[in-house]
Amino acid sequence: MDKELLAMLVCPLCQGKLKFDREALELHCVYDGLAYPIEDGIPVMLPETARALDVDEKLTPSPGRTGEG
Ligand SMILES: [Zn+2]
Repeated sequence: MDKELLAMLVCPLCQGKLKFDREALELHCVYDGLAYPIEDGIPVMLPETARALDVDEKLTPSPGRTGEG
């Protein structure tokens, strides 16, 4: 995924920033609890295609998460 492309992408529902899940190859909107799939490197920004995030994937209060990346 292109970082600049990623920075341009927002959720079509809430226009919020998306979080890239590089393992699942999905873009997560934690606000709507949706995961948009990335197919062949192209994000599919369709709410009807997105899957619902599991509860533990949604916005969780974990401030200061470090040590990754
Ligand atoms: Zn959203």
